[in-house]
Amino acid sequence: MKYCKCCLQPNTRPNSKFTPEGICPACDYFERLQYVDWQERYEILQDLLVQYKERRGVDRKFDCIIGVSGGKDSSRQALWVRDKLGLKPLLACLSYPPEQVTERGVNNISNLIELGFDVVISAPAPGTWKRLMRASFDKFTNWARSTELALFSSVPQLAIHYDIPLILWGENPGLQLGDLKTLGRTGYDGNNLRYMNTLSGGGLDWIREAGFELKDLIPYQYPTPEDFDRHELQIIYLGWFLGDWSLVNNGMYAAASGLEIRQDSVINTGDLHGVTSLDEDWVTLNQMIKYYKFGFGRVTDYVNEEIRLGRMTREAAIELVELYDDACGSNYIKSFSEYIGISVSQFWEKVRTSVNPALFNAQSDGRITRKFKVGVGL
Ligand SMILES: [Zn+2]
Repeated sequence: MKYCKCCLQPNTRPNSKFTPEGICPACDYFERLQYVDWQERYEILQDLLVQYKERRGVDRKFDCIIGVSGGKDSSRQALWVRDKLGLKPLLACLSYPPEQVTERGVNNISNLIELGFDVVISAPAPGTWKRLMRASFDKFTNWARSTELALFSSVPQLAIHYDIPLILWGENPGLQLGDLKTLGRTGYDGNNLRYMNTLSGGGLDWIREAGFELKDLIPYQYPTPEDFDRHELQIIYLGWFLGDWSLVNNGMYAAASGLEIRQDSVINTGDLHGVTSLDEDWVTLNQMIKYYKFGFGRVTDYVNEEIRLGRMTREAAIELVELYDDACGSNYIKSFSEYIGISVSQFWEKVRTSVNPALFNAQSDGRITRKFKVGVGL
């Protein structure tokens, strides 16, 4: 395990590759951003939008579709697209079952609706949702494998349904996170999003193998490349056009527009500013598990951006990562275990089997301790 020389990204992130100088893809991208002509990019975006407007013809359709969770990124995108670009977006929201969604998540969607947007909400069948979540956890120790399929699939599915060829997406996971398989023809072309780690891991095959029938999996099926061609769908990453796209900045913009943020303490959540994945809380235990698999969690994602933006030193960041990168309140583990029908000790048993033994020691008293030194590696 090696760390990026600039930030605290280890080279254990899936689909990621450091430069020969030892710089992570996200820092490398950030460095190149200094030379970007943002006005030029804005004009590129304007030209693209004009093309889509012309193709759309009549004024009876939405200009574009945006997937929203009500969180910081989606709120910022929705407002920017409507108020700055002057478009009429349809917001697509995948709703979670009552056991999973937070009150704050519901309030944030209500806030978007009150801000005057048209929102279409899709709600996959809750029984299948729960059984799939259990199957994901059993197979990958990652409950979100199935729900992310639904989350990513819902937007192009609705785009086809409403005949809206233009899908606006926020972050470019290739450039901004370093998932290089998703890079497209241009920095804003998002049609390779289907190759991201979450979506490409065998698609639905493992779900079929777990005994689910295709007819129960409609919300989890990402439209095929042929579907994209037939409906001329284009995903565009807005993050590529926004010079100040970042976790904290988006959080600030959205909070100014009424976003309700997370109140629980960092020691329970690892959410330094309380602005990520607001619509549900089990993400916290998934981040903890990610940490035990790859050696980095939610705090690392936060501080890396702050380091790049020059708002935090690498030393201060190391301190935060050491303290909180494995943070997860026991209440979240308890409610999650109850939901999928296992005990808390079964939860931990499963988590321990997926701890990366190259990076961590499992102690006899149950504690999991790191072998690596944060910021230095192994
Ligand atoms: Zn880096």
